[in-house]
Amino acid sequence: MPDREPLAEYRAKRDPARTPEPVPATDPDTSSAGDRTFVVQEHHARALHWDVRLERDGVLVSWAVPKGLPPDPKVNHLAVHTEDHPLEYATFEGRIGAGEYGGGQVTVWDHGTYEELKWTDREVQVVLHGNRVQGRYVLFATRSKGAADDGRSWMVHRMDPPTDPGWTPLPTDVRPMLARSGALPPDDGAWAYEMAWGGVRALAFVDGGRVRLRADDDLTGTYPEIAGLGEQLGSTIAALDGEMVALDVAGTPDLERLRERTAATGSAARRLARTHPVTYLVYDVLHLEGRPTVDRPYDDRRSLLDELQLAGPAWRVPPTFDGPGAAVLAAAAANGFDGIVAKRRSSPYRPGVRSPDWRRVSPG
Ligand code: MN
Repeated sequence: MPDREPLAEYRAKRDPARTPEPVPATDPDTSSAGDRTFVVQEHHARALHWDVRLERDGVLVSWAVPKGLPPDPKVNHLAVHTEDHPLEYATFEGRIGAGEYGGGQVTVWDHGTYEELKWTDREVQVVLHGNRVQGRYVLFATRSKGAADDGRSWMVHRMDPPTDPGWTPLPTDVRPMLARSGALPPDDGAWAYEMAWGGVRALAFVDGGRVRLRADDDLTGTYPEIAGLGEQLGSTIAALDGEMVALDVAGTPDLERLRERTAATGSAARRLARTHPVTYLVYDVLHLEGRPTVDRPYDDRRSLLDELQLAGPAWRVPPTFDGPGAAVLAAAAANGFDGIVAKRRSSPYRPGVRSPDWRRVSPG
């Protein structure tokens, strides 16, 4: 967009005394040529988004992309065309103060150079050469229905196939694997032991920093405090399995407290999230970064889960124990749990199956 004062809007939105962001005093040199750089910044503002910036005519032409650059040509993501940024912004990382424009943490998610294939006021086609992202993308303006076309509503589409040839899209629904009731397994070494939480089973589908929670129904609006799990995972795409529990001060599940949460959604759910908070205990990973993980053994899935380092105010990975099973069962009973779940270490995840590889054991 030609502009007599290329950074006027950028400057108008910021007070150099109050933001750590670069606010250059002089206008950019628009005659500069040579390598064109791009940067994608992960911005944990009021809503998480990724800022895609392309160097052109001495400034960084910018879009805020709520779910980030799509890795898969089948899925387009929304993009909001924002004000041009100074070139100095390409290396900016830091925390913009709360209350300031764009308050929150900014980190560089990827950077590199790009080739321009097409550039008009309403369509930009480029080839990105970054560390995390390579390939052809097109950004194009859309007309928002009923609203004045202010040129801000765009979409971003990947034109190349996914970089990973084995890429599989995140599933939209998976049935949970279920345990059978039984006795303690005789071969302790082949099993891992977890507490039986007795909570609300919920699968989490996380993509572009957003969490969708599912059981038989969509539970996303029932447990709003789990949204932060998406912020923590950032651009990591994952399907997770776990249980929603309300824990008492001793860390044991409080079924009564949990029951009060199950019916409410919307603003009632947000109120209850403060008075009756839940914790999402994540104990399995079913899909990660474009690959299903259900066929991998329990121990592998558990390692992948541990590497995600999921820990936050309302979510974490509960412990798994080696056994002996009898000792874990006794400890569970002593701590107010009504049982344990033994999981066969070599077993895959069988969606929707009540499997002998997961054994629910109650105290005798
Ligand atoms: Mn931003």
